[in-house]
Amino acid sequence: ATETEQQDLVIIGGGVAGYVAAIKAGQEGLKVTCIEKRGVLGGTCLNVGCIPSKALLNNSHLYHQILHDTKARGIDVGDVKLNLTQMMKSKDTAVAGLTKGVEFLFKKNNVNYVKGTASFTGEHEVKVNLSEGGETSITGKNILIATGSEATPFPGLEIDEKRIVTSTGAIALEKVPETMTVIGGGIIGLEMASVWSRLGAKVTVVEFLGQIGGPGMDAEIAKSAQKILKKQGIEFKVNTKVMGGDASGEKIKLEVEAAKGGKQETLESDVVLVAIGRRPYTAGLGLENIGLETDDKGRMVIDQEYRTKLPHIRVIGDCTFGPMLAHKAEEEAVAAIEYITKGHGHVNYGAIPSVMYTHPEVAWVGQNEQELKASETKYNIGTFPFSANSRAKTNLDTEGMVKILADAETDRILGIHIIGPNAGEMIAEGTLALEYGASSEDVARTCHAHPTLAEAFKEAAMATYSKAVHF
Ligand code: FAD
Ligand code: NAD
Repeated sequence: ATETEQQDLVIIGGGVAGYVAAIKAGQEGLKVTCIEKRGVLGGTCLNVGCIPSKALLNNSHLYHQILHDTKARGIDVGDVKLNLTQMMKSKDTAVAGLTKGVEFLFKKNNVNYVKGTASFTGEHEVKVNLSEGGETSITGKNILIATGSEATPFPGLEIDEKRIVTSTGAIALEKVPETMTVIGGGIIGLEMASVWSRLGAKVTVVEFLGQIGGPGMDAEIAKSAQKILKKQGIEFKVNTKVMGGDASGEKIKLEVEAAKGGKQETLESDVVLVAIGRRPYTAGLGLENIGLETDDKGRMVIDQEYRTKLPHIRVIGDCTFGPMLAHKAEEEAVAAIEYITKGHGHVNYGAIPSVMYTHPEVAWVGQNEQELKASETKYNIGTFPFSANSRAKTNLDTEGMVKILADAETDRILGIHIIGPNAGEMIAEGTLALEYGASSEDVARTCHAHPTLAEAFKEAAMATYSKAVHF
């Protein structure tokens, strides 16, 4: 397809939402063009989000473990040194491999890839300022907006991505800061705090609420995560407001105030990470040219089938409603293409897992205790600690537990909350159980291999309606 030929589908944004939709559309035989301004496919997730952060989390964990956790395992190591430049290179290699992979998949599935910035000039037409210079116009029978999100700025703190950073700067620091203050104890804050604390920084996390972990995390699990991360050396100031900052001196000064009692103090650090959430990104799209609006949080307004009030224009991913997660964007991408080609699609928003890739990991799906209490649902709780799991014991990695919440009357699983080694992998089993409407007894009567961490999942299910065997 050439750019001047009318396309069946024009996709704005080549992040997870956009690129998955493009591949799927190509597979369905649609004439599809995907426009991306970054110069690289994969969006936030592959370039500055999920992938680079996990590369750093994995390698910083390995480094930390070699430093502090080998003796009891019978491994005596000599001089251990951090080579941060190489650690960053290893991260970049992972990113480059994956983004090139997406480009390959575009070719394989006949997706036309245009590098440039798109904006609406008509209801079926976008103008693209090409990255290599010049501009072009592309028309589409259908248009899919997948322009993603950006870090929410903190008023009064100017981001330079060197000393005052968002996650983008935090995954690319050139040296380990002596001290780091993280504003916001959500997922980004805690993952990045883990990385830099393991590499030697003294990290303080300032959280506005009384609970860390961001929205959705079960309060009991969040408390446990805070305790474990504190033991690892991260300092927490919860129920604390950042009032303002001053970056003019050698150290950055942050004025903070306790929410209760109003006690004030000044925190000094070399690097400040702003991690107070992300907001939809639709700047420069020219939505006003076609009369499309966003809500008070900047999210594009859509119906159940992802349609704006112009039904041939759909929106998916971080720039619209729902959790800002890559796998949510991916599900929506497939569903949106199915709506276009078949008239029906499916995403179960009640069964989208969340994972925090700290060590131990925290993972959950479905409802937490706070939510069940608020809706006055009667539920049973089954828990099983990893300290009673044989595999966790053999691995000398026993912190955490599995917690299953099931309907008191029907035993149907309502929520699964795990803090522990490999929680992010184990939650797939929980998500499947939730999706299939399993009862906790269904899970408990499913044979799990021994010795595996997943046995903790089975035993927590057992404890929901009966008693665990090993605890
Ligand atoms: P994006 O990935 O933001 O992609 C949108 C793309 O659109 C961008 O590449 C942008 O350049 C392009 N674009 C915007 N406007 C235009 C325009 N006018 N013309 C052309 N192109 C345009 N999620 C997880 O599920 N797991 C994780 O482990 C995880 N880790 C994360 C870690 C960090 C540090 C961050 C910041 C995020 C993380 N996320 C994670 C969230 C995840 O990255 C997002 O949910 C996901 O990227 C959303 O995909 P998207 O396609 O909607 O948006
Ligand atoms: P978040 O919403 O998860 O957490 C932000 C935290 O900052 C909350 O705990 C909030 O109470 C706190 N906060 C807000 N304003 C504050 C203030 N003024 N002072 C102190 N604390 C304040 O947001 P995030 O951690 O920035 O992450 C953004 C998005 O990226 C989320 O949707 C997240 O799901 C996604 N993400 C996911 C992963 C993952 O899946 N592993 C990793 C990174 C990011």
